[in-house]
Amino acid sequence: MQVVEKIEQMKALVKEWKKQGLKIGFVPTMGFLHEGHLSLIKAANKNDKVVVSIFVNPMQFGANEDFNEYPRNLKQDKILCEKEGVAVLFTPSKDEMYLKDFSAFVDMNSLTNKLCGASRKGHFKGVCTVLTKFFNIIEPDFAYFGQKDAQQCLVVAQMIRDLNMSVRLEICPIIREKDGLAKSSRNVYLNEDERKAALVLSRAIFLGQNLIKQGERKAAKIKEAMSLEINKEKLARIDYLSLVNAANLEDLDELKGDILAALAVYIGKTRLIDNFLIKDLR
Ligand code: AMP
Repeated sequence: MQVVEKIEQMKALVKEWKKQGLKIGFVPTMGFLHEGHLSLIKAANKNDKVVVSIFVNPMQFGANEDFNEYPRNLKQDKILCEKEGVAVLFTPSKDEMYLKDFSAFVDMNSLTNKLCGASRKGHFKGVCTVLTKFFNIIEPDFAYFGQKDAQQCLVVAQMIRDLNMSVRLEICPIIREKDGLAKSSRNVYLNEDERKAALVLSRAIFLGQNLIKQGERKAAKIKEAMSLEINKEKLARIDYLSLVNAANLEDLDELKGDILAALAVYIGKTRLIDNFLIKDLR
């Protein structure tokens, strides 16, 4: 496995691979890799070459967010990627990604004003801008994203469509800890009590799923039950809890068609997200 820091070197490798007609799979990450990331890499392995990027993108963090504290462990990440047969671990510096007079952005309307976009202003502008850069540098045939970041999947799909990008998206299912907590690099922030408290997210998710399975279709009823479950936990504070149309993220009263239940909850100072998607609900 090669570890590449320089953009020009990455582009040169891509050029060589393209000449040979090789297919490129790309997995963008912020590092501190866990089984969620590894599931994306495994899916990407159907391509001839897999590129994993590790870049804690300052542009997608708000001023009061955790850019500086975000966990990093390049040494461990290298070992994990090597084991998965990754061809290139791309780790550009932020100075090379964002030159001093950097001034081009990719921004989107509507989808990005909702859910995480409403509480993290500018977040998706940072995500779309950095992904556009990566797509231009790596020219992947396929890019791999986790359903864990449900809104990100929708936003990126629309960006690709609207800007006529050639890359194709593959969305991989949420990987959870044995007890249900969705795997996240941010779980490392949780102390012992918070780790226990964090189970309210997946408990609420499973509760919502079960209510729907039992036939409940009133969004208000399901949201109320899920909120009650979360609010039982003293360390938890709901940022948002939404039941929306999974295509446009508009709120629903009656559940029908493709629906997404998404939530963000603070456990102490740590903001965690989780969701479930049901397709073609009748
Ligand atoms: P991050 O490093 O948090 O930016 O995540 C990089 C990619 O891994 C994103 O596409 C995430 O949706 C995905 N990912 C993160 N956690 C999980 C998980 N628990 N299950 C599946 N995919 C995940």
